[in-house]
Amino acid sequence: MVIYLLPGEEKLFTKKEDWLEWSYDYAQDYDFPPSWKGRVYYVTCKTAPCCPRHLRPLQCRFFPLTPHLDPQGKLLLIRYPEALPYRCPLLDEDVSLRPDFIQAVRTAWEILLKDPLIYDLVAYDSQSRDPSQLKIVSLPKP
Ligand code: SF4
Repeated sequence: MVIYLLPGEEKLFTKKEDWLEWSYDYAQDYDFPPSWKGRVYYVTCKTAPCCPRHLRPLQCRFFPLTPHLDPQGKLLLIRYPEALPYRCPLLDEDVSLRPDFIQAVRTAWEILLKDPLIYDLVAYDSQSRDPSQLKIVSLPKP
C-alpha cells in the first residue's frame, strides 16, 4: 500500500525507518491542488499490516474516516469514498466506530485545516465527490 503524506508530515520521520520505503513525485505531475508545488512524499510499508502503530502516517490513523468540506465550507467526516485495491470490512460492512475515535479525528482535522495547503487538498478532493454518494459519519453527542 502506497500512502502519500500531508505537506510537512515527512519531518516526523527519519526516512531511515526499516519498515518504510520512501519515494516522491512532483505535485504538479499528479492530481493535487494547484497550490501544491514541489515534492509530495510517499511511503510504502514493507511490513504491512504490522507497523509501529504510534508512528504510522496520519492517513492510516484516520482510516476509515476522511474529511470533506460541504459547499458552505463546513467540515464533515465521511467514510473513505475512493476505490481501494483491497477489501476492508470497516468500509464494506459499515462497522461502527468508537465515538472517542470519531471525535479525535474531528479534532485533528480542525487543527490540520488551519494549514492552507492541507485545507486546499481537502477542498480540492471534496469538490470532486458526488454529494449523493457520501457516507457522512455523525459526531458523538457532547
Ligand atoms: S497502518 Fe501501518 S501497515 Fe497499515 S498501511 Fe498504515 S503504515 Fe502500513
